[in-house]
Amino acid sequence: MLKNIKMKRIYLDHAATTPVSKEVLEVMKPYFSEKFGNASSLHSFGIEAREAIKKARKISSKLINARPAEIIFTSGGTESNNLAIKGIAFANKNKGNHIITSKIEHPAILKPCEWLEKHGFKVTYLDVDNKGMVNPKDVEKAITKDTILVSIMTANNEIGTIEPITEIGKICKKNKVYFHTDAVQAFGKIPIDIKKINIDLLSASSHKLYGPKGVGLLFVKQDVKIEALSHGGGHEQGLRSGTENAAGIVGFATAIKLAEKIMKKEAERQTELRNKIIKEILKIKGVQLNGHPSQRLPNNVNISIKGIEGEALLIRLNEKGIAISTGSACSTKSLKPSHVLTSIDLNDEQAHGSLRITLGKDNKEEDINYLLRELPKIINSLRKINPLKW
Ligand SMILES: *Cc1c(COP(=O)(O)O)cnc(C)c1O
Repeated sequence: MLKNIKMKRIYLDHAATTPVSKEVLEVMKPYFSEKFGNASSLHSFGIEAREAIKKARKISSKLINARPAEIIFTSGGTESNNLAIKGIAFANKNKGNHIITSKIEHPAILKPCEWLEKHGFKVTYLDVDNKGMVNPKDVEKAITKDTILVSIMTANNEIGTIEPITEIGKICKKNKVYFHTDAVQAFGKIPIDIKKINIDLLSASSHKLYGPKGVGLLFVKQDVKIEALSHGGGHEQGLRSGTENAAGIVGFATAIKLAEKIMKKEAERQTELRNKIIKEILKIKGVQLNGHPSQRLPNNVNISIKGIEGEALLIRLNEKGIAISTGSACSTKSLKPSHVLTSIDLNDEQAHGSLRITLGKDNKEEDINYLLRELPKIINSLRKINPLKW
């Protein structure tokens, strides 16, 4: 498909994954070779790994104003979410069996919840408004005497909507219900303070933040009652047994440090680029913005284009070296459009004509200009092929 290997390639799919920063890779390297020790060993090799993980725990906790002992390193966002949801459910089932979440959560929240429903738990899946916002009042109304956990994401991975987690945190505290947030898309991109927001558990993932794949963390506030899912040597406060991935953890922490340094500047820069894309794209006939116009991740653009299949557009942009994503997946796993897009009341045509552009720290204005030159041409040509739909 990429006829000319030297062709310019522009990556605009940072919500899917990000490249590992050069600095992160360099810091990781020794932990595969000379510093290969098992962090549980008592000799110098073990001490080396143990000290590195200790330092990483400190760096990771600082970003969200937590304490090092409250950070559990995992294999990624999916495992963190599973540990949070099932771990809280198992540990608190004598108190109640009810969990509240939203319809637009990542599958790594929805699937564990569905699984728990087969094992005696009850789950309320809250609706969102047409901008993808959970209403905190709906959370409050849904809480019963059996509710043990509320899990609402910090920001949505498809449409970028930032949820009102401050209000939701307050409601959970008042009602003595644990509050978990899947912060995978927001962590390191917008400030999160677990004390100010009253978060009990928080999931994050390294590979969405220029760190390596296969590493993540779960923040678990002190005194939260939670069960382990993986049993063994008792690593990570007994909550996640298994020899620590020292290289990955050190890489993740380095990525966090870098993210913290550039967070404010990058948020401003990407917001500006994002707004430019939105403004220009909305000039094309039959294009609408999905998600919230302002309560939105700095790097997210999600649109629906009338008379276009998102997948056809993806393929044509890919031929131009531009990598984006769509909420429709005709040839892949299912014909069903994304559950997020149908939850914000898009019809099938709108959902199948959706496009997600997610910016990253290495995208330059000229990349955006290239996109904005190519996109209208491709839309026009696709609409010519399919005049009936348009
Ligand atoms: C990517 C993502 C996950 C899964 O994280 P992995 O580290 O890939 O397992 C969970 N939640 C959200 C919101 C995500 O974007």
